[in-house]
Amino acid sequence: MHFLPIVVWLSFLSPVHCILSKICIFAILMKNFRVGHGYDVHALGEGLRLVIGGVEIPHEKGCIAHSDGDVLIHALCDALLGALALGDIGKHFPDTSDEFKGIDSRVLLRRVTALIHDAGYEIGNVDCTVAMQRPKLRPHIDAMRAELAAAMGVAIDCVSVKATTTEHLGFEGEEKGVSATAVALLYQL
Ligand code: MG
Repeated sequence: MHFLPIVVWLSFLSPVHCILSKICIFAILMKNFRVGHGYDVHALGEGLRLVIGGVEIPHEKGCIAHSDGDVLIHALCDALLGALALGDIGKHFPDTSDEFKGIDSRVLLRRVTALIHDAGYEIGNVDCTVAMQRPKLRPHIDAMRAELAAAMGVAIDCVSVKATTTEHLGFEGEEKGVSATAVALLYQL
């Protein structure tokens, strides 16, 4: 970080404002922020449950997976883990283990949140996008946000979930699969 502009700016302030500004800047610099990104894809299969963001959505297809196939939570877990360079969801919850067969992905998200806390960090906010052609996810977005917020122990306004189609392009648009991306901001306590 370049401190010269800050020093020049401080030199123009009155002594009282200068001290207050220095305290604020010190507090900001001392707060250790980390950012992470996650991405996940699942193929869709006929007659399976479709669970996204902890919410079961009525649809004729669902995600093919070892767990409940919650593509949104998997991307979010990877974003949280990635922020602290803790690896990925496959490292912590291998799909070869019977322990995770059919598991509710909210359980995984709670475990990842515990890892974040154990490392001395808190979750600031998360922003997620699900790409799926059908069905429309908008009616379920707030329920997903509530589920994710509860699992992470944060306020619902710290959780953004967005949905998009891909205009019938690619595997999402051809309804062969669903993808999700997520970013997460963490801060050190
Ligand atoms: Mg997955």
